[in-house]
Amino acid sequence: MRRPFIAGNWKMNTHRAEAIALAEGVVKAAAGVDGVDLAVCPPSCYLDAVGKALAGSKVLLGAQNMYFEKDGAFTGELSAAMLRDLGCTYVILGHSERRHILGETDALINKKVHAALAAGLIPILCVGELLAEREAGQTMSVIRRQFDGSLAGLSADQLKTVVIAYEPVWAIGTGKVATPQQAEEVHLALRKLIAERYNAAVADVVRIQYGGSVKPSNAADLLKQADIDGALVGGASLKADQFLGIVAGAL
Ligand code: PEP
Repeated sequence: MRRPFIAGNWKMNTHRAEAIALAEGVVKAAAGVDGVDLAVCPPSCYLDAVGKALAGSKVLLGAQNMYFEKDGAFTGELSAAMLRDLGCTYVILGHSERRHILGETDALINKKVHAALAAGLIPILCVGELLAEREAGQTMSVIRRQFDGSLAGLSADQLKTVVIAYEPVWAIGTGKVATPQQAEEVHLALRKLIAERYNAAVADVVRIQYGGSVKPSNAADLLKQADIDGALVGGASLKADQFLGIVAGAL
């Protein structure tokens, strides 16, 4: 049985005091929640402060990005070990904003995935098609390319620990959520792809989150689909009550 996992991606939002207050709000609201894994991913400059606000709670800390090298002349970058030092359990990798705005390739993302795992971080690996790709009937070929490229060289044991987030790009930050059927179709196909590339036992344990305009009003219908194991939440994770409203949909 896969345990649901809801993570908030705060993106480049909040200021220091807001980030701490939001983390405290999530901790308070999550106090009575059982049976769901929870994480928040604040901007990197607030990881330390948010980590302190989460200390001792069931809400874990995640980063939104990292670089694959261990150390050296990489101005502006953070290593996996630095994120571990800051108390991170998770790191989002291959988010569509990094793929499409910052030009990250599957090859680069793959190096980051390996570096994250080597340092003991759990990658939340994002995949998803553009609207034009969906309309051209290319959704699964895009997902397959991203899966094969971003996760190349992982052992079955490594893949079992990775979280995959299916995030159709046309649904991110647009208010246009995928229908539960559209999302489930891709999640099921992804699980079959894992079974093909690895085996059925691995496919059975890998958690696949849905992301893209998830809100308290649509969360339960998405999360009750057989192959949707949680949500990666952007906009709605910036309000503790909305984030917890989504969590309630997983219970
Ligand atoms: C995201 O950024 O991962 C995301 C899903 O954003 P939103 O929930 O705002 O669509």
